[in-house]
Amino acid sequence: MTPNIFKWKEIRSECEATSATLVAVSKTKPVEAIEALYAEGQRDFGENRVPELVEKAGQLPQDIRWHMIGHLQRNKVKQVVPIAHLIHGIDSERLLNEISKQASKTGRVVDGLMQIHIASEESKYGFDESEVRELIERRGTTFDHLKIRGLMGMATFTSDESIVRAEFEHLSAFYKNLRSTCFKDDPHFDTLSMGMSGDYPLALACGSNMVRVGSSIFGARN
Ligand SMILES: *Cc1c(COP(=O)(O)O)cnc(C)c1O
Repeated sequence: MTPNIFKWKEIRSECEATSATLVAVSKTKPVEAIEALYAEGQRDFGENRVPELVEKAGQLPQDIRWHMIGHLQRNKVKQVVPIAHLIHGIDSERLLNEISKQASKTGRVVDGLMQIHIASEESKYGFDESEVRELIERRGTTFDHLKIRGLMGMATFTSDESIVRAEFEHLSAFYKNLRSTCFKDDPHFDTLSMGMSGDYPLALACGSNMVRVGSSIFGARN
């Protein structure tokens, strides 16, 4: 169960070419696999289940930046807030308010990404664009302990590259639009998280600056 270091180096250099951050998605993989990649210099790791995140964070070095990438339930927010470097999947107003509330109790401001629904599948979580714009305009008032750092999206699971490209281009354009309007005076809105093992090169070509890659590095999951 060792990660493919050769492949990791290749993906890392593709990310470096566009100054994108590589999040190594270690969900379901043992701590030994994370340690092996940590020894090579990887510091950003992604998990999608809270109990697994809590357990791994307790066993691994403190300077790891943990990314909570999956759908997050509100009753688990309290456990995530002290650990997470970045919460990627903010997909409802209630979740957003809960993150801000729990963060304010700990006295810290948590960074998060708004998940936008770009795929054609019904099942993928996320806001639509008008909802996000409306929420963003209220930031700093209703939720003051959550800092919106950018957007996250997942493309349709399909082998048709033209569909995936269109979805990534669409999200990228929306991100740029928000940057030049709502966040014109806020340099912290700087993250576009899109791209996974199957589609990260396309995502980078479409302007992603954070990719979440699991199976290409760690091998297939059960
Ligand atoms: C599992 C997961 C990934 C990584 O998927 P791979 O195809 O293994 O690279 C990326 N993003 C999210 C939200 C995930 O749940």
